[in-house]
Amino acid sequence: MDTDVLIVGGGPTGLMLANQLGRRGIRAMIVDRHSGPAQQTRAMAVHARTLEIYSKLGVAERALELGKQGGGANMWAGGKLRARIPIGDMGKSLSPFPFVLMLGQDDNERILGEHLHKWGMAVQWNTELVAFEQAPDHVTATLKQPDGTSRKVSARISRVATAGAAPCASARASRFPAPRTSTCSSSQTPRRPARWCRAS
Ligand SMILES: Cc1cc2nc3c(=O)[nH]c(=O)nc-3n(C[C@H](O)[C@H](O)[C@H](O)COP(=O)(O)OP(=O)(O)OC[C@H]3O[C@@H](n4cnc5c(N)ncnc54)[C@H](O)[C@@H]3O)c2cc1C
Repeated sequence: MDTDVLIVGGGPTGLMLANQLGRRGIRAMIVDRHSGPAQQTRAMAVHARTLEIYSKLGVAERALELGKQGGGANMWAGGKLRARIPIGDMGKSLSPFPFVLMLGQDDNERILGEHLHKWGMAVQWNTELVAFEQAPDHVTATLKQPDGTSRKVSARISRVATAGAAPCASARASRFPAPRTSTCSSSQTPRRPARWCRAS
């Protein structure tokens, strides 16, 4: 077996999953077809519960250092400020982090990605899952590597951690009948939320 867990996708979901496994002493292989972490801000508000989870993981301080507490949301229409919603003390007396932290997804990914080193893991960028095959006790994934060649990786469990544009719907929806073979294609549309794909 090449790895116990193969995580496909180095976005927030895959990075958090890898960190949570690392925290419990499980090392995963993480691959992502992109060349590196997101460059766009994308999601930009981090709520109290996420910060509580970050705290357990040991990255809350770094997030607080990089982010800014949100004071309120301004609503504009027709070039005029129409309303302001105060959010300054959201979660007061409920959480040690009673505020919304403004911190872009790119920074969140950077924090979670850097923290992976603590567990001896790193995302393998430019590495795409192109097919997988399920056996009763393992999954064999075909990965397209940065140099264009393919290699097969066997894992006890694989997890497709891809959102919107997931290219491998059949992997996500798999209910683990074995043996099973699938090929990922970017034309496939996701049918269900991401799922574990593992040997039964
Ligand atoms: C322009 C934009 C603005 C957004 N703004 C907000 C916002 O304001 N608030 C908010 O809450 N959310 C926002 N979102 C949504 C937010 O970005 C997503 O919810 C979040 O990225 C989901 O994280 P994820 O890890 O599940 O998936 P993703 O971030 O999509 O990560 C999936 C990863 O899987 C990789 N991957 C996919 N297929 C394969 C494969 N076959 N092999 C290898 N790797 C693969 C991809 O390269 C990608 O890096 C925005 C999204 C966009 C695009």
